[in-house]
Amino acid sequence: MDSRKFCLDLNEEDLKTWCKDRGFPSFRAGQIRKWLASGVIDTASMTNLPKDIKAGLEEDFIMGGMTIAHDFVSQIDGTVKLVFALHDGNIIETVIMRYSTGLSVCISSQAGCKMGCTFCASAKAGFGRSLSPGEMLGQVLLAGRYMDERIRSVVVMGIGEPFDNYDNLISFLKLINDPDGPNLGARHVTVSTCGLIPKIEEFTKLKLQVNLAISLHAPNDELRRELMPVPAHYPVRDLIDACRKYVKETGRRITFEYSLFDEVNDTIACARQLAALLKGLNCHINLIAANEFPGSPYKRCRKGRIEVFRKELERLGLNATLRREMGTDIMAACGQLRRGIEEKEG
Ligand code: SF4
Repeated sequence: MDSRKFCLDLNEEDLKTWCKDRGFPSFRAGQIRKWLASGVIDTASMTNLPKDIKAGLEEDFIMGGMTIAHDFVSQIDGTVKLVFALHDGNIIETVIMRYSTGLSVCISSQAGCKMGCTFCASAKAGFGRSLSPGEMLGQVLLAGRYMDERIRSVVVMGIGEPFDNYDNLISFLKLINDPDGPNLGARHVTVSTCGLIPKIEEFTKLKLQVNLAISLHAPNDELRRELMPVPAHYPVRDLIDACRKYVKETGRRITFEYSLFDEVNDTIACARQLAALLKGLNCHINLIAANEFPGSPYKRCRKGRIEVFRKELERLGLNATLRREMGTDIMAACGQLRRGIEEKEG
């Protein structure tokens, strides 16, 4: 295993110390950092550095180490999917979407996922490893370079469970507002978890201004156990209690993601259970017309049923909208593409 640090995991202090130890002038640390913060991670493109510094960087750190292996552009709405190959052969996906407010990037927090959700292509592809903070940051920086445009918001909602990679996630959230890098305010960042309660509690204590979304997908334990076996280890009631605490202590609204599967969790009875569960909570419900993928045991919810479900929630006083689908022609939903590529290439 390569024990060298990935270049985007180096902070200013690391670079200064490295220059000192290597006998390079200290101003070189600033130059290297500038390149890295703008998403230039291969030494060949760092044009103002002399050869010996480039060679030293290559020796001591993983330079490059994150390359676009495939890119797909939706012909329907311009959504872009980037497939990154990491230095150790792991593959991750990043999706870039254009909204009226600008570009938003959906990043992965792990290569694969351990949560085993039965509707998710990422779970089927298995677990590789967790990503470092720099590898999460790299997805944002390299997406910005690919589009040649500033990224306006980030959602940690791609492959992996961010709270299963908690410490690295928190470090990433600190890196994301680096004025030399993505320079994004916390309110422009959303973290989505499948509901690991101890981590939600830790996160609550940090009182960050980051948006929190919970992938709920079921209003009761029985259904949740079927759809999300690992997260369902925590009872739904306890999960919602943790969410209530989060809202109370941070003063922030919380979002629930609810993917609809035909005749599974899209019934009126489910809508009513969901409304009762979330009663009085300052929240928003994002309904998702879940995508089918080859081998998926579930069928996509029919349009008419989604509207009936949404209206019932609304009638019961909840704030629910149907999430706009993007990049359907390039399999932009979480994990689908990685799985397809691995099956084809592996
Ligand atoms: S839905 Fe999210 S948490 Fe569940 S297996 Fe897929 S990536 Fe993991």
